[in-house]
Amino acid sequence: MNKHSSDAFPEARDYFDGLAAGQLRLTHCLACKTSFFYPRIACPSCHSEDLEQVDATGRGTVFTRTRQERAATPDFDAPMELAVVGLDEGPRLLVRMTSECEIGSPVSMNIEETKARGIPVFDHGRDRGA
Ligand SMILES: [Zn+2]
Repeated sequence: MNKHSSDAFPEARDYFDGLAAGQLRLTHCLACKTSFFYPRIACPSCHSEDLEQVDATGRGTVFTRTRQERAATPDFDAPMELAVVGLDEGPRLLVRMTSECEIGSPVSMNIEETKARGIPVFDHGRDRGA
């Protein structure tokens, strides 16, 4: 885990700990029953601070997609498939796809190890946890 990230953003500590354990953790509001991502200290829907961390299923559906032809940094390969995935729990994430995808395709998450830490990436299918 990248120590600097959770030091600077303590509300994201559970998120980074989850990635290290192979899980995508969402924050769930106990007041309005909404799950959200990215980690915050209060619910973006009702502003409650009565929150808990929950493990996402890692399954979702491609909301939209694009193909990036140039790498943003030397740490990434190009071309790169990017997608906004709507998780089964509701939140949408901008993620890297490990294969081409179509809008509406079911996808599932894996954790890819990088130099700094594991990051969530998605692929076709809904086999995670099935
Ligand atoms: Zn709420």
